[in-house]
Amino acid sequence: MTKILGKSVATAEQMAAFLLSKNPNPKINIPVETFCRLFLYMGALEGVRGDLSFIQSCKETGYFAFNGTVKPEQNNYAGLGTTDVNTPGAYFPDEATGILAQIQHAKGYEGTDLVYDCVDPRYKVLIQCGKLGTAKHWEELGGSWAVPGYSTKKYASLEEANNAKDSYGYQIVNMFNEMIGYEKKEETTPVEKELPLKGIKICIDPGHYGKYNRCPSIPAYYESEVMWKLHLLQKKYLEEMGAVVVTTRKDANTDLALHLRGQAAKGCHLFISDHSNAVGGGMNESIDYVAVYHLCEDLSATCDDISEEIAKGIGPVISRVMGTNQGYKVLTRKASNDRNGDGVMNDNYYGVLHGSRTVDVPGLILEHSFHTNTKAVNWLLQDANLDALAKAEAEYIASYFSNTEVNIEDKPDVPYCIRVANVGVGDVLNIRKEPTVSALKTGQLAYNDPNKYTIVEERNGWGRLKSGIGWINLYYTKRS
Ligand SMILES: [Zn+2]
Repeated sequence: MTKILGKSVATAEQMAAFLLSKNPNPKINIPVETFCRLFLYMGALEGVRGDLSFIQSCKETGYFAFNGTVKPEQNNYAGLGTTDVNTPGAYFPDEATGILAQIQHAKGYEGTDLVYDCVDPRYKVLIQCGKLGTAKHWEELGGSWAVPGYSTKKYASLEEANNAKDSYGYQIVNMFNEMIGYEKKEETTPVEKELPLKGIKICIDPGHYGKYNRCPSIPAYYESEVMWKLHLLQKKYLEEMGAVVVTTRKDANTDLALHLRGQAAKGCHLFISDHSNAVGGGMNESIDYVAVYHLCEDLSATCDDISEEIAKGIGPVISRVMGTNQGYKVLTRKASNDRNGDGVMNDNYYGVLHGSRTVDVPGLILEHSFHTNTKAVNWLLQDANLDALAKAEAEYIASYFSNTEVNIEDKPDVPYCIRVANVGVGDVLNIRKEPTVSALKTGQLAYNDPNKYTIVEERNGWGRLKSGIGWINLYYTKRS
């Protein structure tokens, strides 16, 4: 068995590479390798195998996708204090504290005294429950750290799961072995790294031309000029990542009608229009957020779904890089008339998005905070900041399209029909707005519902119902 105490054998590079191979877009706010190194550092501080603690976190958070009860902002990577879906558990002020707490908790099971001041809020619970010093090995954590610590559907008892090396602790060790093997394989068969945006075509629209939308109190700032600079940097980074980039203006002084700029994206995978926002006539120091507008819901297309997904992903990236006081908003705005004359009132208010929709291209308007806010303006006037912003945006887009490629390959054979199954007598199967247990409930199906339902899309084990009412967890269904 594998001791809880000891020196780590994996390197931070190896840990980061393994994590990114499983989830190219982990919800971690600091560089992934730096994050991994914290496990090694905190582990060494307490004499605990930090590399295995990291794997434990991969398991607990679903490779830092955080689809469960615990949210990324808790910095709680092993569900400390998370006893059920309604109890999110402990919050830690930063990554390092959360990791140290987790490592101290593991050491509590092991029983050796802590070296460092205890930051684990659950350490005292270990003492109260008589669990201090009850597990010297990772494999012994099933049934203690995690309860029951094995799949009750697959095994009749913990002992049976342990014998099959498939209980909580064994799974951690198995994942660890996979990580060690993963890196070796990479070393012996080096694969030429393919550019993440190879084959992807992107259209960028600098939102305005000439000298347009000047900041009311900082004369150096024109929205048109700064966004022109930004779009050239975006182009540079996207091209470095393998994308083909087209832009809507040949030079900063020519204008094109709004919808024509959106239509310039014809044949592209994505359309982006760059802006900074304004509120009122003068400065407004209290309004500072990123707004990302995506295409309005359109049941006859998928470009709106893709644009919504990218909006939800890129919003937090921009707000994090810019450090906006009020984070970000993901928005749509519908036109009040039927612009394309198809009889459906779902057209986009913004001309550029209306244009991109007419050529079936996912479109976004990126409002990089407000040029009526001094802090935001001064930030955007720094070329180094624009460079970091463009790079982060390009990296997010690259990660989105690398993931999407995988999704396309693994695309399930939708649509298909299901019936309710595996739901306890008297229980209900909830229908939710999004494919996650924390999303709004939009309906329910009885345990004995005899009807067939059509699934039109799958995501993370959830299926979207054709009726449009929402998503159900496919575990509680069978194909029919
Ligand atoms: Zn604008």
